[in-house]
Amino acid sequence: MLRVEGEDAPNVWTGTDFLHKVNAGESVDVGDKVVVIGGGDTAIDAARVARRLGAEATILYRRTRTEMPAIDEEIVGAEEEGVKIDLLAAPIEIYKKNGKATGMKCQRMELGEPDDSGRRRPVPIEGDTFDVEFTTLIAAISQAPDFTGFDEFIEGRDWIKVDEKQKTKIDGSFSGGDNVNLGLVIDAIFHGRQAASAIHEMISGEPQEFQQPQMGIIKFDKMQLSFYEGIEPVKVTEMAPDARLKDMQAEIAATISQEDALKESKRCMSCGMCFDCGTCWSYCQDNAIVKPFDKGGTYKFKLEFCNGCKKCAENCPCGYIEMH
Ligand SMILES: Cc1cc2nc3c(=O)[nH]c(=O)nc-3n(C[C@H](O)[C@H](O)[C@H](O)COP(=O)(O)OP(=O)(O)OC[C@H]3O[C@@H](n4cnc5c(N)ncnc54)[C@H](O)[C@@H]3O)c2cc1C
Repeated sequence: MLRVEGEDAPNVWTGTDFLHKVNAGESVDVGDKVVVIGGGDTAIDAARVARRLGAEATILYRRTRTEMPAIDEEIVGAEEEGVKIDLLAAPIEIYKKNGKATGMKCQRMELGEPDDSGRRRPVPIEGDTFDVEFTTLIAAISQAPDFTGFDEFIEGRDWIKVDEKQKTKIDGSFSGGDNVNLGLVIDAIFHGRQAASAIHEMISGEPQEFQQPQMGIIKFDKMQLSFYEGIEPVKVTEMAPDARLKDMQAEIAATISQEDALKESKRCMSCGMCFDCGTCWSYCQDNAIVKPFDKGGTYKFKLEFCNGCKKCAENCPCGYIEMH
């Protein structure tokens, strides 16, 4: 919750409670003016659902748009649907009338020094406050899983800790996804795959291959962009904002065809991952690089022949080769 006076009112909800009610098919009356606090995916989803219930929706976020953790396309989608975003603002008091929350006092913020998360800390601008009215307030901040019944797995603020095979501290048990760190669907899927391999290894005794930890994001400065052919991205057909708002179940972005999916995959630049282009091999005059026997196999480096000229690394289009 917000830790703000007045948030116990019945029309102040958490983002997940609100979304759960709507998804469970409950009839939810939010009135005509919803304010959502937060800058993550839950805040965006809550505001977009409020718009579909016919309310005006405003998101209040204490930092700037750059620091919003929500996926950028989702923020754009929300704006297209008429969600307003009021940045650098935070609630400090909720006003109540007859037990219901009717509005709140907000503090204008500015950005200070970066905090532990690396994002610049919001700092109150003294004396700069303003009032906002609403019919429903949704607090979409600070989520955590419900660990009831899983106390023995928890390691303080780290929730459930796991090793690189997703093993927890308790033998024969594995964890992943939001239980170890709130993330994206793709993180949870990756953890699931790693854990499945680890469980198979435990039961069968057969050693499994595990994905290596990532070497970090390869940026354009490590790539040779001229190597790549410029290919336009496939355009996904999207419903017009007005039509989206009329249908809660509408799928906003259409699925792409198999042909388009293949076209999209051809745009992959394989950043940081060898894709067998052979450039390093053709630059090496010392026979220090051995081509793989099979297409797509790994190139081997015979360091005893390498004279350190760096040509392979400098010309590798995808930033795969690093010289130390
Ligand atoms: C509102 C919202 C919007 C989001 N938007 C995005 C987005 O746009 N893109 C994106 O990539 N990610 C998004 N995320 C994050 C993403 O949903 C999660 O990171 C992901 O779902 C985590 O997967 P998981 O399997 O760890 O947990 P979950 O998907 O939560 O699955 C856990 C399952 O376990 C069940 N469960 C819980 N307790 C028990 C129990 N004791 N016994 C049995 N079953 C139990 C739950 O009912 C649930 O079905 C969003 C999250 C939220 C809350």
